[in-house]
Amino acid sequence: MVSVHIVGAGIGGLSAALALAAKGSQVSIHERASKLTEVGAGIQLGPNAFRAFELLGIQQEMERIAFAPDALVLLDSPSGVEICRQELGEPFFQRFGYPYRVGYRADVHAVLLQALGRYRDQITLHLGSEIRGVHQDAQGVTLTDASGQSLHGDALIGADGLWSAVRTALWADGPPRVSGHIAFRAVLPVEAVPPALLTDQVQVWVGPDHHLVCYKLRAGALFNVVAIFHSSRSVQGWDHTGDPSELARAFESACPAVQQLLQQVDAWRMWVLCDRNPTPQWSVGRVTLLGDAAHPTLPYLAQGACMAIEDAITLAQCLDGRPDRVAAAFEAFERLRQPRTAHVQEASRQMGAINHATGAAREARKPQPCRPRSARLRVDCVALRLGAARPGRSVPDAGVLGTRRARAVNPPSCPEGGSGSL
Ligand SMILES: Cc1cc2nc3c(=O)[nH]c(=O)nc-3n(C[C@H](O)[C@H](O)[C@H](O)COP(=O)(O)OP(=O)(O)OC[C@H]3O[C@@H](n4cnc5c(N)ncnc54)[C@H](O)[C@@H]3O)c2cc1C
Repeated sequence: MVSVHIVGAGIGGLSAALALAAKGSQVSIHERASKLTEVGAGIQLGPNAFRAFELLGIQQEMERIAFAPDALVLLDSPSGVEICRQELGEPFFQRFGYPYRVGYRADVHAVLLQALGRYRDQITLHLGSEIRGVHQDAQGVTLTDASGQSLHGDALIGADGLWSAVRTALWADGPPRVSGHIAFRAVLPVEAVPPALLTDQVQVWVGPDHHLVCYKLRAGALFNVVAIFHSSRSVQGWDHTGDPSELARAFESACPAVQQLLQQVDAWRMWVLCDRNPTPQWSVGRVTLLGDAAHPTLPYLAQGACMAIEDAITLAQCLDGRPDRVAAAFEAFERLRQPRTAHVQEASRQMGAINHATGAAREARKPQPCRPRSARLRVDCVALRLGAARPGRSVPDAGVLGTRRARAVNPPSCPEGGSGSL
């Protein structure tokens, strides 16, 4: 049995723990927070996430806590004109094989945490355990926590997010890239939402140097609001209060309904958006990275957490519970995942540019049904947001988790010894 330490109990770390335990590993999760409280916010979960949830045996639980939007709609924020839409009903389900849902982050975490209970003998969660040091040799890995305690194991996974200490220990490749965009987040009771915006859709209002994403949560009782705009700020984490006057300036060209929604929020949480250029290598010997630690991604395709969940499945399949092939398994994991996550990192940046277009680019983005180029752009926007197809292709890639077609073409398995089931 392989003994694996995971640093970080975010969506990536918890998914990895479940996937590894299902393959027979002994798992210790180390989370620096003393209490697991996810910031109050929503999350979009594409069909690829639901494919992974099925493999983890938590699809039904995730369906129960999620809200089912009926469409994903891109709207021009100054004029209110609809640019394009993707219906998310039965034809979508038939095409991708799994649903598109949105959820409250705390609920998603609760499902993952509860599922840990199925592996009581295999998974241990250590809260208040901040990992500061990593060492490895031919026999195994040694972690040092903030109290100076040493912990040993066969393998280590850094699922410790954007500002990963494990990444720094491996590569020391500097801090993430500050994108120049910041996000303000809030969750409102639906009663506070202007009627024009109270729909069952995921709405993405795009305008010059800003955009707004909003959708219902928790059986429609809550409304998630994320406002993103250009800014030169640079601070870490969600523990910052957003300044409403800065937001109002950024959205001054938005239509009245959008401005009215923003005015309903009393307290904004602020996050400086960062990513990295894709890197070819995440693993060194018995240590690897997963999720934002490996491939931090701007949120414009709503795929960062979905990628972390996909990583978890592929990693467990590559490791396959075998202590004798940890380094080879991590190399195989990286080779399988790097092209797809790199594509999503780059496509997310492109989507940011499309969302925030000004001048002629904004005009070109508007719906012009008589022009085939414009029609193709609209299709590509939707495909990009779904994270299930390359730009310019309507057919999902082979090897992509999350489509029945892809599953038939190329099951998510590790070709070098690991097995494809969980
Ligand atoms: C505004 C916004 C909206 C987004 N919307 C979506 C969306 O709709 N859909 C989607 O798929 N993605 C979305 N994302 C991206 C998504 O939130 C991230 O990609 C995802 O949370 C990454 O998960 P993770 O587990 O890799 O890292 P994290 O969630 O960052 O978890 C890392 C964990 O490691 C812990 N940790 C850090 N350092 C240490 C240490 N030294 N020792 C111990 N523990 C440590 C942290 O406390 C944390 O709990 C969005 C991101 C943003 C900013």
